[in-house]
Amino acid sequence: MSNVNAICRRKHAKFFMRFLDLLPSRLASHDSTRVTIAFFAVCGLDILNSLDTIQPATVETIIDWLYRYQVVSKEGEVECSGFQGSSTINTSVPNENITKYKWGHLAMTYTAIATLVTLGDDLKRLNRKAIIKGVAAVQRDDGSFSASVEGNEYDMRFVYCAAAICAMLNDWGTVNKEKMAEYILKSIRYDYGVSQHFEMEAHGGTTFCAIAALQLSGQLDKLSPETIEGMKRWLIFRQIDGFQGRPNKPVDTCYSFWIGASLKILNAFHLTDYEENRSYILSTQNTTVGGFSKWPDSMTDPFHTYFGLCGLSFVNEPGILEIMPSLNISMRAYKKLKELQGHWAPQEPEECSNCSIIDIE
Ligand SMILES: [Zn+2]
Repeated sequence: MSNVNAICRRKHAKFFMRFLDLLPSRLASHDSTRVTIAFFAVCGLDILNSLDTIQPATVETIIDWLYRYQVVSKEGEVECSGFQGSSTINTSVPNENITKYKWGHLAMTYTAIATLVTLGDDLKRLNRKAIIKGVAAVQRDDGSFSASVEGNEYDMRFVYCAAAICAMLNDWGTVNKEKMAEYILKSIRYDYGVSQHFEMEAHGGTTFCAIAALQLSGQLDKLSPETIEGMKRWLIFRQIDGFQGRPNKPVDTCYSFWIGASLKILNAFHLTDYEENRSYILSTQNTTVGGFSKWPDSMTDPFHTYFGLCGLSFVNEPGILEIMPSLNISMRAYKKLKELQGHWAPQEPEECSNCSIIDIE
């Protein structure tokens, strides 16, 4: 686990492949969110330019497996379309409707679609209209989104997932983008970081969620020039060598993505110290069995491995693909997505003006 100055690309590819086969017992508690683990493994292999490590037959197996978790509401039922994270909660209750607890979850829907796109699926089996209805159904009066129907979590994380889903499907349906932007603007704190919900402390992860959601919905111009300058300052000040998520917290590999991507969207990433950032990320890689951790010499996981690689992508590490910051997928996958969108029926003019027209530069 020593700090070396070179990335162990093949070991990281092997690390991700292991998570596509079998989850280690220490991750058993994450069983209900297996789709997100597949996202980190597949998209991680993609940005390592190693997707061909997955055999074509396995690619098809993963695609079929993901579609098994697509939930489409039936006429007259509660609107709950989207993707589940696994079948763990599809409990069989004698004499009751076993689909009772089967509903989509915004984070699983976002990561499932992103994984399908990355694997080269044509999305033809996706019920796009139903999924967008599912997103609109969990928007709350304050503009935020719940994770799922009857979900008790609602905050900036699910605002981001909702925006990412609508942008990927190029359809906002009846989602109220203006209300969503109001929620985001109300969550900007005195120091120009953005909090998870009103009146909370600004945080690097939720600042990314807010800025990316504004870009994906074509509403970045709702930030005043003064706010944008304040945000840039707050974000740049998070760099120690790597990046921290909040003032006075230790640095952590994943913030090289959360803070880095936010600065990329605001066109200010070039103001950071690339070499310090790169050295910190590389100090957290396990050079024996692959993977990155949040701190040097600690436990690796797929989440920090994926985001560590994204951080290296931002500093132009050779052999690592370019990332589309606001959708958090490779630029190669993003281009495939734009091709698919080109084949879909055009939106009504009034839907088109502000949807996912993203300036990828
Ligand atoms: Zn972290």
